Amino acid sequence: MATLPEEPDVSRILIDRAEHDPTSLTRDELATLLAITDPLDLRLLHAAAYRVKAAEVGTTVYFRGIVEFSNLCVKNCDYCGIRRDNQAVERYAMSVEEIVAAARWAHAGGYGSMVLQSGERSDEAFVAIVVETLRAIHDATGGELGITLSLGEQSPATLRRWHDAGAHRYLLRIESSNPALYASLHPEDHDWAARRACLDHLRAAGYQVGTGVMIGLPGQSLFDLADDLLFFRDLDLDMIGMGPFIPHADTPLGHLAASFDAEAQLELGLRMIAVARLLLRDVNIASTTALQALAPTGRELGLLAGANIIMPNITDTKYRRAYQLYDGKPCLDENGDQCRDCLERRIAAIGETIGYGARGDSPRFRKRA
Ligand code: SAH
Ligand code: SF4
Repeated sequence: MATLPEEPDVSRILIDRAEHDPTSLTRDELATLLAITDPLDLRLLHAAAYRVKAAEVGTTVYFRGIVEFSNLCVKNCDYCGIRRDNQAVERYAMSVEEIVAAARWAHAGGYGSMVLQSGERSDEAFVAIVVETLRAIHDATGGELGITLSLGEQSPATLRRWHDAGAHRYLLRIESSNPALYASLHPEDHDWAARRACLDHLRAAGYQVGTGVMIGLPGQSLFDLADDLLFFRDLDLDMIGMGPFIPHADTPLGHLAASFDAEAQLELGLRMIAVARLLLRDVNIASTTALQALAPTGRELGLLAGANIIMPNITDTKYRRAYQLYDGKPCLDENGDQCRDCLERRIAAIGETIGYGARGDSPRFRKRA
């Protein structure tokens, strides 16, 4: 008796299309890719994303040393461990000298760029301190160190001031492209449309712009994540920084820890990176620390799924414990040297190289510029 040909595997046909004809993918098809769980199909998905990464941005990892310079925040996002109403956190702000020391260390070690991140403030004292810090970093590193800001929503005037003072990239996650989902995770005075508008203001001010979302939020569907990917594509971004949502005990979403499945959350985060690489091709994509919070090798897995940027923590060890956006943040007792040594070993183990001495702008940005 003649055997019937095997039914073509829908996932494999889609993975092949994503690799060779990504513009044809629909929202439903993106969601189907994000739903893959069959182990062999998953391997094929990650391998296709890795081939696209190698061809479009290469297999050199670029470091952005991140300084979490203050946990003072005027906002109250329901998921975040340093939200305004969390009384259990000891608040701190590093001095300009301490931040510049971290910048000098990063520059001396061949890091092409650094990230300045903090809780959100927009008072004049804060805006002016950031200007002073940017100028001091510029002077201390001969203008060679690229500077990314991740300081939340700011007015167009503030964004221009910081750009004039030497910042050239800005990371502002939209958190979710679905305004209703965003509203469900924030107090009423937090405004999705204002955050969305800020992304336009960043571009107008001359920054390389990055955004991202939290993956695996309560109430988020795979269609929401597919919409997030289309949102990134439509904005023609330079950089993507997204990571799994992880509950923090001292927040309104802390109760979700009881049902939290770290492995499933990691897998979903990796699939999102892989599908983002297949769809967006030549942008920079970060393998974020939240992946490492879910598994010791989480960041390497992110690189193997298509990410090409890592943000080693270069914050003074004494402040790290007070900057926990989510529970289980890794490397709380390490210092910058230890984090670099550890990452060098981990990256060598997967056969990639580190792009020391280079800023590592995304090919997408270079083409547009
Ligand atoms: N205050 C700035 C920058 C610091 S917060 C801002 O909000 O833009 C940086 C990112 O941390 C946020 O954009 C959010 O996506 C992420 N984050 C906060 N709490 C988190 C959690 N519980 N799990 C995972 N990511 C979280
Ligand atoms: Fe503040 Fe950012 Fe945390 Fe929201 S996510 S509470 S703005 S630090």
